Amino acid sequence: MSVFDNALKQIEKANKIANLDKFKIDILKNPKRIITANLPVKMDNGEVKIFQAYRVQHNDLRGPFKGGIRYHPNVSLDEVKALAFWMTFKTTVIDIPMGGGKGGIIVNPKELSEEEIERLSRAYAKAMHHNLGSKIDVPAPDVYTNSKIMGYMLDEFEKIKGIKDPGMITGKSLDNGGSLGRDKATAMGGFFLLQEVLGTLCVGCTTIAIQGFGNAGSIMAELAYENGLKVVSVSDSKGAVYDENGLNIPKLIEYKKINRSVKGFAKNILPNELLELPVDVLVPAALENQIREDNAANIKAKIILELANGPTTPEADDILFKKGITVVPDILANSGGVCVSYFEWYQNVNNEKWDLEKVNSKLKEKTHKSYRGILKVKNQHDIPFRTAAYIVALNELNKHIKV
Ligand code: NAD
Repeated sequence: MSVFDNALKQIEKANKIANLDKFKIDILKNPKRIITANLPVKMDNGEVKIFQAYRVQHNDLRGPFKGGIRYHPNVSLDEVKALAFWMTFKTTVIDIPMGGGKGGIIVNPKELSEEEIERLSRAYAKAMHHNLGSKIDVPAPDVYTNSKIMGYMLDEFEKIKGIKDPGMITGKSLDNGGSLGRDKATAMGGFFLLQEVLGTLCVGCTTIAIQGFGNAGSIMAELAYENGLKVVSVSDSKGAVYDENGLNIPKLIEYKKINRSVKGFAKNILPNELLELPVDVLVPAALENQIREDNAANIKAKIILELANGPTTPEADDILFKKGITVVPDILANSGGVCVSYFEWYQNVNNEKWDLEKVNSKLKEKTHKSYRGILKVKNQHDIPFRTAAYIVALNELNKHIKV
């Protein structure tokens, strides 16, 4: 299944209403630049291994390319192209002056030592440095990358260039030019949206299941728990747990630190069962293509809030819409991450430091404004949220395409 083809279907669907010229859609379908690199990295045993790496610069019509770097054994050019494409639409939907890009390395970081990860990350920055910079392309963390890795890349980049350019990358640690609130931003933005949804489309809803217990998923679970919602099930790459009375999330976070998985914390269920639980809200926060034609009909949640990128295929989207399930799409639901990445970039290039209250109140303002604008288009045409989000983005991008 091509994730990139799935992504393209989403814009085609929206353009039936947005009606942009074909050449404009073609521009938006194709990445502006694709960089591939082979990274030679010395392993701890002295052997040199080659890792395949990508940076896809999808679009910079509205500002520098922007998007995370993923370390995962299943990374492929097809996936990185899709993720870069979604970033262009995400930065437009959340209305920040940036474009879309994404990077990845085919690697299982769990098999590498910290020193090997550092050498790999420095090799990535070295290979890509011509095409990176605060005014050109600004990466960030994604699956299995973090603030430490961003620090290695920034250090390598600045050494090669002989300049200080902290805005070249976001998701950095606080003492390295990071922003307050960036670590929690993806989940926080998602949570602000969830509050809107619970107040408008799902009044009285309380139960949640979350697939993926990393940066996005675990923090979403924490925010939901702190705000009195009942997180009945969560999963990670090793397993899934369920408690109909609600999981104690702070204890589960401690448990995962020690056991490296959520498995065994409560009743174990099969990972796929989580998706089909009778909950009010389902939050995919792991990887792509989780809700497909073969399981969409079994989904019982009323709302799906996509913290992950691309968790729902176009075929599944149609089934869910017919079933009356509202899908808050990735390009809106997880845009909190890139929004606060932009705030971090802004603070770096303007030499400012914002307090947490300012970061979160600006994030809330942006997510609410975006949600309401998209909801209006959704109701106007009686279409899925995703299609409405793409229409809003297409109309905005349309203003910037000049040939
Ligand atoms: P992460 O590496 O912190 O966590 C990923 C989690 O998913 C881990 O708990 C892992 O065990 C779990 N996982 C992997 N395969 C799984 C499977 N088959 N079933 C269940 N769980 C599985 O990554 P993250 O940053 O939380 O990213 C998760 C998703 O959110 C990705 O789709 C990413 O692109 C998206 N996202 C992240 C950010 C961000 O700022 N971190 C921003 C926007 C979107």
